[in-house]
Amino acid sequence: MSCAVCGAARTRGKLRRGDVDILECPSCGLAFWTPPAGFRPDRVYDAGYFAGAQVDRGYDDYGDLEASLRLTFARRLARIPRPAGRARLLDVGAAYGFALDEARRAGWEATGLEISAPAVRRAAALARGRVVVADAAAAPFASGRFDAVTLWDVLEHLPQPHAAVSEMARLLRPGGRLVLSTGDVGSLVARLSGARWHLYTIPEHLFFYTRRSLRALLEAHGFRVESLRAEASTYTLGYLVERLRKTLLGRSARRPARWPGSGLRIGVNLFDVVTVEAVLRARA
Ligand SMILES: [Zn+2]
Repeated sequence: MSCAVCGAARTRGKLRRGDVDILECPSCGLAFWTPPAGFRPDRVYDAGYFAGAQVDRGYDDYGDLEASLRLTFARRLARIPRPAGRARLLDVGAAYGFALDEARRAGWEATGLEISAPAVRRAAALARGRVVVADAAAAPFASGRFDAVTLWDVLEHLPQPHAAVSEMARLLRPGGRLVLSTGDVGSLVARLSGARWHLYTIPEHLFFYTRRSLRALLEAHGFRVESLRAEASTYTLGYLVERLRKTLLGRSARRPARWPGSGLRIGVNLFDVVTVEAVLRARA
């Protein structure tokens, strides 16, 4: 099997997580697993994914994380230069619309794209009907429409990396910015954690990127990578405990009731999530 990002002809086994084999590309470091035939990634994101339908995956309650997510999104958005006048931003994988709403507050004319219809129904009030249900590789917008496209912890969920990034390049005007965050499987924490790395969440994460594979992917579609950096995120104490529970205990865990202190917000940087900022070159 060849590498889905750099096209290297050979890949090799990396580790085994539960009953899933994770492979890697010796050339760009991309790690990935192969879903069974008939796997439908879009079916993963039903209402239950965001609301604790399964004890070992998804979110216990995505809505509970609103305040901490907004802090993280606002900090990330503050770094994106906003053109004077009308400035259009597309948030891909908008979920409940928290990032979209933060972008709107920061002065962007913000639109969202989301594959999960239940999430969009939940977002409608908040994001004022600005979230469209569609696949990231087939967005129903005119070419060159946007000044910025953001994907916050979304790229690793997308089954066709090149098709998705090609679509982002189509949607951006020349000079527009693609800003995304994703786990860094080449980071020290990921390497030390082995199969227990907290971002090996299967089936929702399909690919695990390295800085090198991100560069290769973006440059293939006309982007110039301006920066790659590990940044802190704000989490609630309850969410950190939830992640640990899912990572270490999986299906054998029981979900605790809400506890005092679970809403406490903490800034965390394990240096295993990378934010990439890339600019679309003028078309030749
Ligand atoms: Zn590769």
